[in-house]
Amino acid sequence: MVHILLIEDEVSLARVLRDYLQQAGYRVSVAYRGDEGLAMFEREQPDLVLLDLNLPGMDGLDVARAIRRKSNTPIIMITARSDEVDQLIGLEIGADDYIVKPFSPRLLLARVRAVLRRTQGASPQPRKLRVGDVEIDLDAHTVTRAGEPIRLTPTEFRLLATMAQHPGRVFTRSQLLDALGYHYTGYERTIDAHIKNLRAKLEPDPKHPRYIETVFGVGYRFRKPQEE
Ligand code: CA
Repeated sequence: MVHILLIEDEVSLARVLRDYLQQAGYRVSVAYRGDEGLAMFEREQPDLVLLDLNLPGMDGLDVARAIRRKSNTPIIMITARSDEVDQLIGLEIGADDYIVKPFSPRLLLARVRAVLRRTQGASPQPRKLRVGDVEIDLDAHTVTRAGEPIRLTPTEFRLLATMAQHPGRVFTRSQLLDALGYHYTGYERTIDAHIKNLRAKLEPDPKHPRYIETVFGVGYRFRKPQEE
């Protein structure tokens, strides 16, 4: 399992990112101070570091320099202002990428995957999911059922991929919104509309779903194959 160290002092943001990355299949450690983060880096030897620029204890740039002195572990810097990006590049601290706040967890995940692909030459997780006779290709963004292609919108695909990566696990509407990169409350019902469209395309009989189950009062889940 790929291990990510997140060094970020905004506790609520750190929690959202940690949960999102864990859901995507990564092991995540979190430090809320720069000096703690560097100590954790040395102790745990993660595969990738997500590093906020402005941190208590030790500045993000100093943490990045200290990491670079002893390792080539990929670093993605998190910055609050786009003008800090110039500073990052100018200082040539050896970060592999950067992301400017505010950003969606989905965008961060895409950056993480891209950096890992580039630096490891390997994909961090299985890129094809097979559940029953449904096959989901996470790289090509294609879905087939019994070999027949099913055309989904990008939103429908992300919903399906999110749930199918954890068969049997129940997702609330707000978790699914989060997976889509929407951070608004009050939009939970739009998930129902997307699920309805997804079922119409995916399910042999949308009125009696085989794949995407409604868990009343909670949300939705992708059925485990053995439950069929
Ligand atoms: Ca900060």
